Amino acid sequence: MPSAQMWFRRCLCAQIGCKLEIIVVGAGAAGLWVAERLARRGRSVLLLEKTARAGTKILASGGTRCNLTTTLGADDAAKLFGPAERFLQPALRALPPAAVRERFHALGVPTVEEPALEKVFPASDRAVDVRDALLRAARSAGVVLRCNTEVRAVEPSGEGWTVATPGERIACEKLVLCAGGASYPRTGCTGDGYGWLRALDLPVVEPVPALVPLRSGAAWVHALSGVSIQDTEARLLDASGQTVARRARPVLFTHVGLSGPGAMDLSAMVARGGAWTIALDLLPHRADVDLQKSLVEAAGRPGGCRLIRAIGDGPPARLLAAAAHQAGIAEDNPALHQLDRSRRIRLVEALKGLRVPISGVLSWDHAEVTAGGLALGEVDRRTFEVRRRPGLYVVGELLDLAGPIGGLNFQAAFSSAEAAARHIGSCSTCTNRSSRRAYAAPGPT
Ligand SMILES: Cc1cc2nc3c(=O)[nH]c(=O)nc-3n(C[C@H](O)[C@H](O)[C@H](O)COP(=O)(O)OP(=O)(O)OC[C@H]3O[C@@H](n4cnc5c(N)ncnc54)[C@H](O)[C@@H]3O)c2cc1C
Repeated sequence: MPSAQMWFRRCLCAQIGCKLEIIVVGAGAAGLWVAERLARRGRSVLLLEKTARAGTKILASGGTRCNLTTTLGADDAAKLFGPAERFLQPALRALPPAAVRERFHALGVPTVEEPALEKVFPASDRAVDVRDALLRAARSAGVVLRCNTEVRAVEPSGEGWTVATPGERIACEKLVLCAGGASYPRTGCTGDGYGWLRALDLPVVEPVPALVPLRSGAAWVHALSGVSIQDTEARLLDASGQTVARRARPVLFTHVGLSGPGAMDLSAMVARGGAWTIALDLLPHRADVDLQKSLVEAAGRPGGCRLIRAIGDGPPARLLAAAAHQAGIAEDNPALHQLDRSRRIRLVEALKGLRVPISGVLSWDHAEVTAGGLALGEVDRRTFEVRRRPGLYVVGELLDLAGPIGGLNFQAAFSSAEAAARHIGSCSTCTNRSSRRAYAAPGPT
């Protein structure tokens, strides 16, 4: 912990106008990571956090288990960021998911895999262990963390930057913005960073809630609330019926629409408005032709055969009934031998793409991440320095990137933070030795 003497020196330093080396804004996943990496390289780092504690979103993550990264390799993980793939690739290659796991092992947090959905959790299943490890590492490296300190504005000043809080203005040589997005505002993330970026004349892609449940206006969808399907592929169709995205992940029906990773992973585009439909493949491992054949074969069995029996183990009966209704069949569990060819074809179409009309997404309060943020073209993808604003770095969710559920968003936060730390740490411009002494960080505790 910083000594009182050191605090006094730091305040003095701010008052007499000598610059601190590095200020990091936001003590979330990215902020804790970048601050610790820089302090470990001998840099003096002041970490400012608006709320009363660090890493609140980490504590809430993964249902308080914290899915801290993925089992995927760097390139496969990058692909899941869609248009941001190329931008993120160098950072993910430099700090791949396996290296994040190694780092947490070194910090005393062993991890375990959940291979089915490519997730990695702390072996303890406790998000607090992840947060505490990052916080401990930052403190022992010498980072000075100041909570309850809301940054109101950031401005270029001379060769460096000035950060304004309600009580003071603090100058620094390099400024790293890690204030996150606007999702889950109760965790302290209220989109403050977007205003700072816009004030600096930097383009911000309009932020919208992402990884958020979908709304549907259809009463039959609400009536299925509580029904889930584990093995399905959800396709997002635009107003013309074209598939614009797809995700093979579980889906849950709710009293307002669809949730679960399969639906939430497709939510960013829906949040930008327009008319959308989700098509759910209830039997993703069966080709249309094979399914058609097996229904014909089942219809020909002596005494006939009903739909549920013909399908065997698979989707919940209530979803099969929904598919039958969508095919224009009144019965929940129709006798197949009573269906004519055209209705059988329509039934197969509904089983392979149950149409769920989508009217929008739930609010920021329910969104795990933000899509949108600082336009990536403004940022050097190797260093995360803002091209037109030397000495300013933006990492984590404040950037215009959002990955699907599965540890990808923490991974992006850690990798972007690491890239910025490597660049700043190797940079020779932080040479204000007197301010470094005045703001000397305490030794390991
Ligand atoms: C419920 C929930 C569950 C999630 N689960 C997972 C998961 O299991 N796996 C995964 O990969 N991702 C998960 N995410 C997403 C993940 O938490 C974020 O993508 C990640 O935390 C982003 O890291 P960050 O450091 O950029 O921002 P954050 O972690 O959001 O940190 C930003 C920090 O900046 C602070 N701040 C904001 N404004 C100011 C200001 N004006 N002055 C000073 N400080 C400020 C905030 O208080 C906050 O501490 C989840 C998100 C939520 C909401």
